[in-house]
Amino acid sequence: MNQIWAISKGALFRQIENGLFVVQFAHNKDRTKVLDGRPWTFDQHSVMLDEVKGNQQPSDIVLTHCPFWIRFYNLPLNSRTLGDVRTIAGKFGEVMEVERDGVVWDKSVRARVMLNIMKPLRRFVRIRNKEGNIVSIEVKYERLPTFYYACGEIGHIKRDCEKVAEEDKDSDKQWGSWLRASPRKGRIKMNEEAKSFLNSSKTLSMASKEKAHPNKQYDQVENHVTEVVNPIQKSPEEGVFRLHGGAIEWRKMVRMKS
Ligand SMILES: [Zn+2]
Repeated sequence: MNQIWAISKGALFRQIENGLFVVQFAHNKDRTKVLDGRPWTFDQHSVMLDEVKGNQQPSDIVLTHCPFWIRFYNLPLNSRTLGDVRTIAGKFGEVMEVERDGVVWDKSVRARVMLNIMKPLRRFVRIRNKEGNIVSIEVKYERLPTFYYACGEIGHIKRDCEKVAEEDKDSDKQWGSWLRASPRKGRIKMNEEAKSFLNSSKTLSMASKEKAHPNKQYDQVENHVTEVVNPIQKSPEEGVFRLHGGAIEWRKMVRMKS
């Protein structure tokens, strides 16, 4: 993840249980950058991140929420104030940010919302416009990881869905790729970088103590242990990454059904 995150100093990964890692950042700036950059995916799969609270036990850590940028389309022109957008976005979860630029005339407006990813993705939202009529607002999500089009949940595909009965898995789906917002420029570049990285090397060396912190031991920066990474997974072989010797070994471990 170090390269995908493009952080300046090293990060140290420790597995504390299957699929759950503690990440130590050598530099606080990197930590902020990574948190602000959520959601992260690795090879299309969701990588959940949250801050570790000091009194938490690893077994109690449940990662259920992740911020996403949601774009709202077709908003009535007189319902586009920051307050309006905040109210509408609030139906999706805790609103972290509403984009200020171009709020009035853009085709869509954006808000960053903390989503509960244990719930199916909302596909639209109905609001009452200023005339009192109910109108439907379309939404798209930026940087959506893999999700299953029959149940609308992030983190699994057809094979691993426990919610939809086997016989219903091939019927018409109510979710689809149309929920994905087309990537912005920066995102395309990032995808390309991630891809070339994956193609060029399957093994990524971990930042050594010396490199990351020339004069200090890691236990002196123990306070920087603030992040937990948990690839969402239903079955253990779907780990997004794992520790291997002194290096992090990346694997495409998910067998997608063709
Ligand atoms: Zn499902």
